[in-house]
Amino acid sequence: MRDQYGRPLRDLRISLTDRCNLRCVYCMPAGGIAFRPPAELLQDHEILLLTRIAAELGVCKVRLTGGEPTVRPGLVDLVRGIAAIPGIRDVALTTNGVRLRELAGPLAQAGLRRVNVSLDTLDPEQFRRITRGGRLQDVLDGIRAAEEAGLRPVKLNTVVVRGFNEDAVVPLAALTLDRPWEVRFIEMMPFGEVADFAEGQVVRTEETLRRVEDAFGPLEPLDLSGEEPARTYRIRGAAGTLGFISPISEPFCSKCGRLRLTADGKLRLCLLRDDEEDLLTPLRRGASYEELREIFRAAAYRRPFGHALAERLIPRRRVMIQIGG
Ligand code: SAM
Ligand code: SF4
Repeated sequence: MRDQYGRPLRDLRISLTDRCNLRCVYCMPAGGIAFRPPAELLQDHEILLLTRIAAELGVCKVRLTGGEPTVRPGLVDLVRGIAAIPGIRDVALTTNGVRLRELAGPLAQAGLRRVNVSLDTLDPEQFRRITRGGRLQDVLDGIRAAEEAGLRPVKLNTVVVRGFNEDAVVPLAALTLDRPWEVRFIEMMPFGEVADFAEGQVVRTEETLRRVEDAFGPLEPLDLSGEEPARTYRIRGAAGTLGFISPISEPFCSKCGRLRLTADGKLRLCLLRDDEEDLLTPLRRGASYEELREIFRAAAYRRPFGHALAERLIPRRRVMIQIGG
């Protein structure tokens, strides 16, 4: 399956919920969001059906996200079901890590291959502030459990936020000196009600990179091709690597082969545009498998090129917790 610009579509991100056990400042508006009633979210059998369609159309990688995917009941069985779909070669999870201590082992046994854990700081007080109440130790325990369960390589995602965690960049980068992890620094993106905050407090890759090089010396470039969203480097002699994801300063649209399925059953065609195709309504109205596959394929084909920020438009309809990063 390719889109109208010839980009192959192999990667599907599925949001399993719009709920979360943390409330990160760049993801959830201060006043909260109106959660969808569970009946309006995709049920397990609906997720499996849509994933089977995606796999038939050429998707081979699935990443489960949210909201916080580990708060969804029945996650382990759902992972097992997705991993068993013919054509799906890789099932990964993006999580805040809080529940990994108990779930990493069962998830690995069910067929999960890898995890990305979001971690913005190694300072407990800073962590509490950025997540509005979270406990750092839960995440550190979760990362250890993921490694022990064989969910490797561990990747850590850090959103750099001015006034919150710029000074966490160097200690986080230092984790790679003796651990085979990839620590990825992400530019904060503006969505809906958090757009003003995100635009005001964004820290660009150039600045984060400079901070790391001031501390550790010039970085060794590994992959700057733009094939992956992260441009990767290594601190000289380090066991792990560093990634820089720059949706604001260096968009990677030309290589983007990612589709997103929101928890309420919409196929989102670009993270940073509001264009969506409703799959839940035809699914529940009794559309046939072939009809659904055609709706899916036609929507994927329409994917836009170039994100809306380049046109100074901000995606307003949803914030990140309602999309799935
Ligand atoms: N709860 C899980 C987690 O935190 O990893 C999965 C969902 S979360 C929406 C996925 C990723 O999106 C996280 O790494 C988070 O840091 C990132 N994210 C959320 N809001 C963002 C924003 N405004 N700009 C950039 N990244 C954001
Ligand atoms: Fe929750 Fe993840 Fe959003 Fe933080 S980034 S509020 S952990 S969904």
